[in-house]
Amino acid sequence: MGQALQPVRGTHDLLAADFAAQLHVVSTAQKVASRYGYARIDTPIFEFSEVFHRTLGDTSDIVTKETYSFTDKGGESITLRPEFTAAIVRAFISNGLQQFTPWKCFYAGPAFRYERPQKGRLRQFHQIGVELLGAAEPEADAEMIALGMQILHALGLKDHLTLELNSLGDAETRAAYRTALTGYFAQHKAKLSADSVTRLEKNPLRILDSKDEGDRALLAGAPRLEEHFTDAAQHHFDRLREALGEFGIAYVLNPRLVRGLDYYSHTVFEITTDKLGAQGTVLAGGRYDGLVKLMGGNDTAGIGWAAGVERLASLIEATGKAAAAPRMDIAVIPMQETAEAAAWELAQALRHEGFAVDIGFKGNAKKRLERANRLGVKLALMLGEDEIRAGTVSVKNFATGAQETLPRETVAANLKGLLK
Ligand code: ATP
Ligand code: MG
Repeated sequence: MGQALQPVRGTHDLLAADFAAQLHVVSTAQKVASRYGYARIDTPIFEFSEVFHRTLGDTSDIVTKETYSFTDKGGESITLRPEFTAAIVRAFISNGLQQFTPWKCFYAGPAFRYERPQKGRLRQFHQIGVELLGAAEPEADAEMIALGMQILHALGLKDHLTLELNSLGDAETRAAYRTALTGYFAQHKAKLSADSVTRLEKNPLRILDSKDEGDRALLAGAPRLEEHFTDAAQHHFDRLREALGEFGIAYVLNPRLVRGLDYYSHTVFEITTDKLGAQGTVLAGGRYDGLVKLMGGNDTAGIGWAAGVERLASLIEATGKAAAAPRMDIAVIPMQETAEAAAWELAQALRHEGFAVDIGFKGNAKKRLERANRLGVKLALMLGEDEIRAGTVSVKNFATGAQETLPRETVAANLKGLLK
Protein backbone atom coordinates (compact mmCIF):
# COMPACT_ATOMS: atom_id res chain seq x y z
CA MET A 1 0.00 0.00 0.00
CA GLY A 2 2.72 2.54 1.00
CA GLN A 3 1.98 5.64 -1.06
CA ALA A 4 -1.64 4.61 -1.56
CA LEU A 5 -2.30 5.26 2.13
CA GLN A 6 -1.64 8.98 1.58
CA PRO A 7 -4.26 11.20 -0.02
CA VAL A 8 -3.16 12.44 -3.46
CA ARG A 9 -1.07 15.64 -3.27
CA GLY A 10 -3.29 18.69 -3.09
CA THR A 11 -6.29 16.76 -1.74
CA HIS A 12 -7.48 16.55 1.85
CA ASP A 13 -9.68 14.47 4.03
CA LEU A 14 -12.32 16.67 5.56
CA LEU A 15 -12.59 15.48 9.13
CA ALA A 16 -15.44 16.56 11.38
CA ALA A 17 -14.21 20.02 12.39
CA ASP A 18 -13.15 20.98 8.84
CA PHE A 19 -16.34 19.63 7.41
CA ALA A 20 -18.38 21.59 9.95
CA ALA A 21 -16.48 24.76 9.03
CA GLN A 22 -17.17 24.21 5.33
CA LEU A 23 -20.79 23.31 5.91
CA HIS A 24 -21.22 26.53 7.86
CA VAL A 25 -19.91 28.50 4.88
CA VAL A 26 -22.10 26.65 2.39
CA SER A 27 -25.32 26.72 4.40
CA THR A 28 -24.92 30.38 5.36
CA ALA A 29 -24.30 31.30 1.72
CA GLN A 30 -27.22 29.21 0.51
CA LYS A 31 -29.56 30.84 3.01
CA VAL A 32 -28.57 34.37 2.02
CA ALA A 33 -28.66 33.49 -1.70
CA SER A 34 -32.22 32.22 -1.35
CA ARG A 35 -33.29 35.70 -0.18
CA TYR A 36 -32.17 36.97 -3.57
CA GLY A 37 -34.06 34.23 -5.40
CA TYR A 38 -31.12 31.91 -6.06
CA ALA A 39 -32.08 28.23 -5.71
CA ARG A 40 -29.36 25.62 -5.30
CA ILE A 41 -28.60 23.33 -8.22
CA ASP A 42 -25.80 20.93 -9.08
CA THR A 43 -24.29 19.57 -12.26
CA PRO A 44 -22.14 16.44 -12.71
CA ILE A 45 -18.55 16.79 -11.51
CA PHE A 46 -17.34 15.80 -14.98
CA GLU A 47 -18.34 16.93 -18.44
CA PHE A 48 -17.18 16.35 -21.99
CA SER A 49 -13.83 18.12 -22.15
CA GLU A 50 -15.16 20.44 -24.83
CA VAL A 51 -17.47 22.13 -22.32
CA PHE A 52 -14.49 23.62 -20.52
CA HIS A 53 -11.92 23.73 -23.30
CA ARG A 54 -14.05 25.69 -25.74
CA THR A 55 -15.33 28.13 -23.19
CA LEU A 56 -12.34 28.84 -21.01
CA GLY A 57 -10.29 29.59 -24.12
CA ASP A 58 -6.97 28.16 -25.10
CA THR A 59 -4.87 30.70 -23.25
CA SER A 60 -6.43 30.53 -19.80
CA ASP A 61 -4.25 28.95 -17.12
CA ILE A 62 -7.07 26.60 -16.30
CA VAL A 63 -7.16 24.99 -19.70
CA THR A 64 -3.49 25.15 -20.63
CA LYS A 65 -2.18 23.78 -17.36
CA GLU A 66 -4.78 22.87 -14.81
CA THR A 67 -7.47 20.49 -16.05
CA TYR A 68 -7.79 16.89 -14.99
CA SER A 69 -8.74 15.26 -18.28
CA PHE A 70 -8.85 11.64 -19.32
CA THR A 71 -10.29 9.39 -21.98
CA ASP A 72 -12.93 7.10 -20.54
CA LYS A 73 -13.48 3.47 -21.50
CA GLY A 74 -15.93 4.55 -24.19
CA GLY A 75 -13.28 6.74 -25.79
CA GLU A 76 -14.86 10.04 -24.68
CA SER A 77 -12.60 12.87 -23.57
CA ILE A 78 -13.78 13.83 -20.09
CA THR A 79 -12.71 16.68 -17.79
CA LEU A 80 -13.32 17.05 -14.06
CA ARG A 81 -14.90 20.45 -13.56
CA PRO A 82 -12.23 23.08 -12.83
CA GLU A 83 -15.04 25.61 -12.21
CA PHE A 84 -18.82 25.64 -12.47
CA THR A 85 -19.80 28.39 -14.87
CA ALA A 86 -19.30 26.52 -18.15
CA ALA A 87 -21.05 23.44 -16.75
CA ILE A 88 -24.00 25.51 -15.55
CA VAL A 89 -24.34 27.28 -18.86
CA ARG A 90 -24.25 23.85 -20.53
CA ALA A 91 -27.07 22.76 -18.19
CA PHE A 92 -28.98 25.99 -18.84
CA ILE A 93 -28.94 25.22 -22.56
CA SER A 94 -29.49 21.45 -22.38
CA ASN A 95 -32.47 21.83 -20.02
CA GLY A 96 -34.16 24.46 -22.17
CA LEU A 97 -34.04 27.06 -19.41
CA GLN A 98 -33.62 29.91 -21.86
CA GLN A 99 -37.38 30.49 -21.79
CA PHE A 100 -37.26 31.16 -18.04
CA THR A 101 -34.90 34.13 -17.91
CA PRO A 102 -33.85 35.95 -15.86
CA TRP A 103 -32.71 32.63 -14.37
CA LYS A 104 -30.70 32.42 -11.14
CA CYS A 105 -28.89 29.59 -9.41
CA PHE A 106 -26.63 28.98 -6.42
CA TYR A 107 -24.13 26.12 -6.34
CA ALA A 108 -21.63 24.50 -4.00
CA GLY A 109 -19.33 21.57 -4.55
CA PRO A 110 -15.85 20.30 -5.40
CA ALA A 111 -13.73 21.58 -8.28
CA PHE A 112 -10.46 20.12 -9.58
CA ARG A 113 -7.35 21.85 -10.84
CA TYR A 114 -3.88 20.46 -11.37
CA GLU A 115 -2.02 23.29 -9.62
CA ARG A 116 1.09 23.42 -7.49
CA PRO A 117 -0.33 22.71 -4.03
CA GLN A 118 0.37 25.33 -1.37
CA LYS A 119 -1.51 27.14 1.34
CA GLY A 120 -4.92 28.10 -0.05
CA ARG A 121 -4.27 26.26 -3.30
CA LEU A 122 -5.48 22.70 -3.61
CA ARG A 123 -6.09 20.22 -6.40
CA GLN A 124 -9.52 19.32 -5.12
CA PHE A 125 -11.11 22.35 -3.52
CA HIS A 126 -14.66 23.57 -3.03
CA GLN A 127 -16.48 26.51 -4.47
CA ILE A 128 -19.73 28.25 -3.77
CA GLY A 129 -21.08 30.57 -6.39
CA VAL A 130 -24.02 32.08 -8.22
CA GLU A 131 -24.99 32.61 -11.83
CA LEU A 132 -27.61 34.94 -13.27
CA LEU A 133 -28.57 34.42 -16.91
CA GLY A 134 -30.65 36.72 -19.06
CA ALA A 135 -30.16 40.04 -17.23
CA ALA A 136 -27.93 42.55 -18.99
CA GLU A 137 -28.74 45.47 -16.68
CA PRO A 138 -25.96 47.02 -14.60
CA GLU A 139 -28.26 46.67 -11.57
CA ALA A 140 -27.92 42.91 -12.00
CA ASP A 141 -24.16 43.30 -11.53
CA ALA A 142 -24.73 45.43 -8.45
CA GLU A 143 -27.22 42.97 -6.96
CA MET A 144 -24.83 40.10 -7.51
CA ILE A 145 -21.98 41.94 -5.80
CA ALA A 146 -24.32 42.92 -2.97
CA LEU A 147 -25.25 39.28 -2.52
CA GLY A 148 -21.59 38.28 -2.28
CA MET A 149 -20.99 41.00 0.29
CA GLN A 150 -24.04 40.04 2.33
CA ILE A 151 -22.85 36.42 2.45
CA LEU A 152 -19.41 37.50 3.65
CA HIS A 153 -20.99 39.72 6.27
CA ALA A 154 -23.27 36.87 7.39
CA LEU A 155 -20.09 34.83 7.87
CA GLY A 156 -18.77 37.52 10.19
CA LEU A 157 -16.26 38.79 7.65
CA LYS A 158 -16.76 42.51 7.54
CA ASP A 159 -13.46 44.02 8.43
CA HIS A 160 -10.82 42.41 6.28
CA LEU A 161 -12.26 42.67 2.80
CA THR A 162 -11.73 44.89 -0.21
CA LEU A 163 -13.98 44.90 -3.26
CA GLU A 164 -11.95 45.55 -6.40
CA LEU A 165 -13.80 46.56 -9.52
CA ASN A 166 -13.03 47.02 -13.18
CA SER A 167 -14.78 47.03 -16.53
CA LEU A 168 -13.49 45.26 -19.62
CA GLY A 169 -16.04 47.08 -21.78
CA ASP A 170 -17.91 45.36 -24.59
CA ALA A 171 -16.52 43.40 -27.53
CA GLU A 172 -15.99 46.59 -29.55
CA THR A 173 -14.09 48.20 -26.67
CA ARG A 174 -11.82 45.23 -26.31
CA ALA A 175 -11.16 44.89 -30.05
CA ALA A 176 -10.03 48.51 -30.21
CA TYR A 177 -8.01 48.15 -27.03
CA ARG A 178 -6.39 44.93 -28.18
CA THR A 179 -5.07 46.74 -31.26
CA ALA A 180 -3.72 49.60 -29.16
CA LEU A 181 -2.15 47.24 -26.63
CA THR A 182 -0.60 44.99 -29.25
CA GLY A 183 0.89 48.05 -30.96
CA TYR A 184 2.39 49.26 -27.71
CA PHE A 185 3.87 45.96 -26.60
CA ALA A 186 5.16 45.14 -30.08
CA GLN A 187 7.55 48.07 -29.58
CA HIS A 188 8.71 46.65 -26.25
CA LYS A 189 8.66 42.96 -27.09
CA ALA A 190 12.31 42.44 -26.12
CA LYS A 191 11.55 43.51 -22.54
CA LEU A 192 8.43 41.35 -22.12
CA SER A 193 8.50 38.11 -20.15
CA ALA A 194 8.29 34.89 -22.17
CA ASP A 195 4.75 34.23 -20.89
CA SER A 196 3.65 37.68 -21.98
CA VAL A 197 5.15 37.27 -25.44
CA THR A 198 2.80 34.28 -25.82
CA ARG A 199 -0.08 36.30 -24.39
CA LEU A 200 0.70 39.09 -26.85
CA GLU A 201 -0.14 36.71 -29.68
CA LYS A 202 -3.06 34.89 -28.10
CA ASN A 203 -4.69 37.20 -25.56
CA PRO A 204 -2.84 40.49 -25.01
CA LEU A 205 -5.30 41.65 -22.32
CA ARG A 206 -3.91 39.05 -20.00
CA ILE A 207 -0.59 40.90 -19.93
CA LEU A 208 -2.37 43.39 -17.63
CA ASP A 209 -2.62 40.56 -15.14
CA SER A 210 1.09 39.65 -15.28
CA LYS A 211 2.96 39.33 -12.01
CA ASP A 212 6.35 39.74 -13.71
CA GLU A 213 8.20 42.88 -12.50
CA GLY A 214 9.44 43.82 -15.98
CA ASP A 215 5.96 43.48 -17.46
CA ARG A 216 4.55 45.59 -14.68
CA ALA A 217 7.06 48.37 -15.35
CA LEU A 218 6.08 48.37 -19.03
CA LEU A 219 2.41 48.47 -18.10
CA ALA A 220 2.81 51.86 -16.45
CA GLY A 221 3.18 53.41 -19.90
CA ALA A 222 0.64 51.23 -21.69
CA PRO A 223 -2.61 52.57 -23.18
CA ARG A 224 -5.59 52.28 -20.84
CA LEU A 225 -8.69 50.27 -21.52
CA GLU A 226 -11.08 52.99 -20.45
CA GLU A 227 -9.76 55.24 -23.22
CA HIS A 228 -11.48 52.82 -25.61
CA PHE A 229 -14.86 52.45 -23.90
CA THR A 230 -17.83 52.69 -26.25
CA ASP A 231 -20.73 54.84 -24.98
CA ALA A 232 -22.63 51.68 -24.05
CA ALA A 233 -19.67 50.31 -22.08
CA GLN A 234 -19.14 53.61 -20.31
CA HIS A 235 -22.82 53.82 -19.42
CA HIS A 236 -22.91 50.28 -18.03
CA PHE A 237 -19.93 50.95 -15.80
CA ASP A 238 -21.15 54.37 -14.64
CA ARG A 239 -24.57 53.00 -13.75
CA LEU A 240 -23.03 50.05 -11.88
CA ARG A 241 -20.87 52.39 -9.80
CA GLU A 242 -23.89 54.53 -9.08
CA ALA A 243 -25.93 51.48 -8.02
CA LEU A 244 -23.15 50.26 -5.73
CA GLY A 245 -23.21 53.68 -4.13
CA GLU A 246 -26.97 53.42 -3.66
CA PHE A 247 -26.53 49.99 -2.05
CA GLY A 248 -23.87 51.39 0.29
CA ILE A 249 -21.11 49.15 -1.06
CA ALA A 250 -17.57 50.53 -1.03
CA TYR A 251 -15.09 49.51 -3.73
CA VAL A 252 -11.75 50.42 -5.20
CA LEU A 253 -11.14 50.62 -8.93
CA ASN A 254 -8.43 48.30 -10.18
CA PRO A 255 -7.72 48.85 -13.89
CA ARG A 256 -5.42 45.84 -13.85
CA LEU A 257 -8.16 43.41 -12.90
CA VAL A 258 -8.75 41.32 -16.01
CA ARG A 259 -9.41 37.80 -14.65
CA GLY A 260 -8.00 34.60 -16.08
CA LEU A 261 -10.91 33.61 -18.25
CA ASP A 262 -11.47 34.82 -21.76
CA TYR A 263 -15.25 35.12 -21.77
CA TYR A 264 -15.73 38.07 -19.46
CA SER A 265 -17.15 41.38 -20.66
CA HIS A 266 -18.02 44.63 -18.86
CA THR A 267 -17.88 44.09 -15.12
CA VAL A 268 -15.14 42.13 -13.37
CA PHE A 269 -14.66 42.12 -9.62
CA GLU A 270 -12.76 40.40 -6.86
CA ILE A 271 -13.08 40.48 -3.12
CA THR A 272 -9.66 40.20 -1.53
CA THR A 273 -8.32 39.99 1.98
CA ASP A 274 -4.95 40.85 3.52
CA LYS A 275 -5.33 38.01 6.01
CA LEU A 276 -4.49 34.99 3.86
CA GLY A 277 -1.05 35.80 2.46
CA ALA A 278 -0.47 35.27 -1.25
CA GLN A 279 -3.81 33.51 -1.88
CA GLY A 280 -5.83 36.55 -0.91
CA THR A 281 -8.72 36.39 -3.39
CA VAL A 282 -11.76 34.88 -1.72
CA LEU A 283 -14.46 35.71 -4.24
CA ALA A 284 -14.18 36.55 -7.91
CA GLY A 285 -16.55 37.04 -10.78
CA GLY A 286 -17.79 39.03 -13.67
CA ARG A 287 -20.10 39.42 -16.59
CA TYR A 288 -19.91 36.92 -19.45
CA ASP A 289 -22.45 38.09 -22.00
CA GLY A 290 -20.87 36.09 -24.84
CA LEU A 291 -20.72 32.70 -23.18
CA VAL A 292 -24.19 31.24 -23.75
CA LYS A 293 -23.97 32.00 -27.47
CA LEU A 294 -20.41 30.67 -27.65
CA MET A 295 -21.69 27.38 -26.25
CA GLY A 296 -24.47 27.13 -28.82
CA GLY A 297 -27.39 28.79 -27.04
CA ASN A 298 -29.29 32.00 -27.80
CA ASP A 299 -27.58 35.32 -27.25
CA THR A 300 -28.06 35.61 -23.48
CA ALA A 301 -26.42 37.91 -20.98
CA GLY A 302 -24.74 36.28 -18.00
CA ILE A 303 -22.98 37.20 -14.80
CA GLY A 304 -21.69 35.24 -11.83
CA TRP A 305 -19.13 34.86 -9.12
CA ALA A 306 -17.39 32.02 -7.33
CA ALA A 307 -15.74 31.87 -3.94
CA GLY A 308 -13.29 29.35 -2.52
CA VAL A 309 -14.81 27.56 0.47
CA GLU A 310 -11.42 26.56 1.95
CA ARG A 311 -10.21 30.15 1.77
CA LEU A 312 -13.40 31.42 3.39
CA ALA A 313 -13.13 28.83 6.13
CA SER A 314 -9.48 29.82 6.80
CA LEU A 315 -10.43 33.46 6.84
CA ILE A 316 -13.20 32.80 9.33
CA GLU A 317 -10.71 30.92 11.48
CA ALA A 318 -8.03 33.62 11.11
CA THR A 319 -10.46 36.27 12.30
CA GLY A 320 -11.67 34.18 15.24
CA LYS A 321 -15.23 33.81 14.02
CA ALA A 322 -15.15 30.03 13.71
CA ALA A 323 -18.44 28.19 14.00
CA ALA A 324 -18.67 25.79 16.91
CA ALA A 325 -18.30 22.15 15.87
CA PRO A 326 -21.56 20.23 16.23
CA ARG A 327 -22.01 18.82 19.72
CA MET A 328 -23.99 15.99 21.20
CA ASP A 329 -26.71 17.14 23.59
CA ILE A 330 -26.95 14.11 25.77
CA ALA A 331 -25.16 10.95 26.87
CA VAL A 332 -27.23 8.09 28.25
CA ILE A 333 -25.23 6.17 30.87
CA PRO A 334 -26.33 2.72 32.08
CA MET A 335 -25.03 2.43 35.65
CA GLN A 336 -24.88 -1.39 35.57
CA GLU A 337 -24.96 -4.00 32.84
CA THR A 338 -28.54 -4.84 33.82
CA ALA A 339 -29.59 -1.30 32.83
CA GLU A 340 -28.17 -1.56 29.31
CA ALA A 341 -31.49 -2.44 27.61
CA ALA A 342 -33.39 0.34 29.38
CA ALA A 343 -30.62 2.79 28.45
CA TRP A 344 -30.93 1.89 24.77
CA GLU A 345 -34.69 2.24 24.96
CA LEU A 346 -34.31 5.73 26.46
CA ALA A 347 -31.62 6.75 23.95
CA GLN A 348 -33.78 5.67 21.00
CA ALA A 349 -36.87 7.39 22.38
CA LEU A 350 -34.92 10.65 22.76
CA ARG A 351 -33.37 10.40 19.27
CA HIS A 352 -36.90 10.04 17.88
CA GLU A 353 -37.81 13.19 19.84
CA GLY A 354 -35.00 15.02 18.02
CA PHE A 355 -32.20 15.03 20.60
CA ALA A 356 -28.57 14.21 19.72
CA VAL A 357 -27.75 11.27 21.96
CA ASP A 358 -24.58 9.22 22.53
CA ILE A 359 -24.53 5.94 24.41
CA GLY A 360 -20.86 4.88 24.27
CA PHE A 361 -21.43 1.15 23.70
CA LYS A 362 -19.15 -0.25 26.37
CA GLY A 363 -17.29 0.27 29.63
CA ASN A 364 -18.46 0.94 33.16
CA ALA A 365 -20.36 4.06 34.19
CA LYS A 366 -17.16 5.95 35.05
CA LYS A 367 -15.61 5.31 31.60
CA ARG A 368 -18.81 6.36 29.88
CA LEU A 369 -19.07 9.56 31.91
CA GLU A 370 -15.49 10.37 30.88
CA ARG A 371 -16.40 9.81 27.23
CA ALA A 372 -19.50 11.99 27.64
CA ASN A 373 -17.35 14.77 29.06
CA ARG A 374 -14.89 14.45 26.17
CA LEU A 375 -17.70 14.69 23.62
CA GLY A 376 -18.79 17.91 25.26
CA VAL A 377 -22.35 16.78 25.94
CA LYS A 378 -24.41 19.07 28.10
CA LEU A 379 -26.36 16.45 30.02
CA ALA A 380 -25.72 12.89 31.16
CA LEU A 381 -28.84 10.81 31.80
CA MET A 382 -27.98 8.08 34.27
CA LEU A 383 -30.09 4.99 34.47
CA GLY A 384 -29.42 2.27 37.05
CA GLU A 385 -31.43 -0.41 38.78
CA ASP A 386 -32.80 2.11 41.32
CA GLU A 387 -34.00 4.47 38.61
CA ILE A 388 -35.56 1.65 36.61
CA ARG A 389 -37.45 0.43 39.68
CA ALA A 390 -38.65 3.95 40.51
CA GLY A 391 -39.44 4.90 36.89
CA THR A 392 -37.01 7.85 37.00
CA VAL A 393 -33.82 9.12 35.35
CA SER A 394 -30.92 10.95 37.05
CA VAL A 395 -29.82 13.99 35.08
CA LYS A 396 -26.35 15.45 35.51
CA ASN A 397 -25.68 18.90 34.06
CA PHE A 398 -22.02 19.07 32.99
CA ALA A 399 -21.93 22.85 32.93
CA THR A 400 -23.25 23.44 36.45
CA GLY A 401 -22.45 20.08 38.05
CA ALA A 402 -26.06 19.98 39.32
CA GLN A 403 -27.84 16.65 39.48
CA GLU A 404 -31.57 15.98 39.73
CA THR A 405 -33.97 13.10 39.40
CA LEU A 406 -36.84 13.31 36.92
CA PRO A 407 -39.79 10.99 36.24
CA ARG A 408 -39.08 8.89 33.13
CA GLU A 409 -42.28 10.04 31.32
CA THR A 410 -41.56 13.75 31.61
CA VAL A 411 -37.84 13.58 30.93
CA ALA A 412 -38.07 14.48 27.23
CA ALA A 413 -40.27 17.49 27.97
CA ASN A 414 -37.85 18.68 30.67
CA LEU A 415 -34.72 18.25 28.55
CA LYS A 416 -35.70 21.03 26.18
CA GLY A 417 -35.51 23.50 29.04
CA LEU A 418 -32.33 22.01 30.49
CA LEU A 419 -30.50 22.15 27.15
CA LYS A 420 -31.15 25.86 26.60
P1 ATP B 1 -6.12 32.50 -8.40
O1 ATP B 1 -5.70 33.80 -8.98
O2 ATP B 1 -6.02 32.45 -6.89
O3 ATP B 1 -5.52 31.30 -9.08
P2 ATP B 1 -8.44 32.03 -9.99
O4 ATP B 1 -8.61 33.22 -10.83
O5 ATP B 1 -7.84 30.82 -10.58
O6 ATP B 1 -7.69 32.41 -8.63
P3 ATP B 1 -11.25 31.53 -9.92
O7 ATP B 1 -11.19 30.63 -11.07
O8 ATP B 1 -11.84 32.85 -10.07
O9 ATP B 1 -9.80 31.66 -9.28
O10 ATP B 1 -11.96 30.78 -8.69
C1 ATP B 1 -12.74 31.48 -7.72
C2 ATP B 1 -12.22 31.26 -6.33
O11 ATP B 1 -11.99 29.89 -6.08
C3 ATP B 1 -10.88 31.91 -6.05
O12 ATP B 1 -11.03 33.24 -5.73
C4 ATP B 1 -10.40 31.11 -4.85
O13 ATP B 1 -11.01 31.57 -3.66
C5 ATP B 1 -10.91 29.73 -5.17
N1 ATP B 1 -9.84 28.91 -5.78
C6 ATP B 1 -9.42 28.92 -7.06
N2 ATP B 1 -8.47 27.99 -7.27
C7 ATP B 1 -8.28 27.38 -6.08
C8 ATP B 1 -7.44 26.31 -5.63
N3 ATP B 1 -6.62 25.69 -6.45
N4 ATP B 1 -7.52 25.94 -4.33
C9 ATP B 1 -8.37 26.55 -3.47
N5 ATP B 1 -9.19 27.55 -3.83
C10 ATP B 1 -9.15 27.97 -5.11
MG1 MG C 1 -5.94 30.01 -10.61
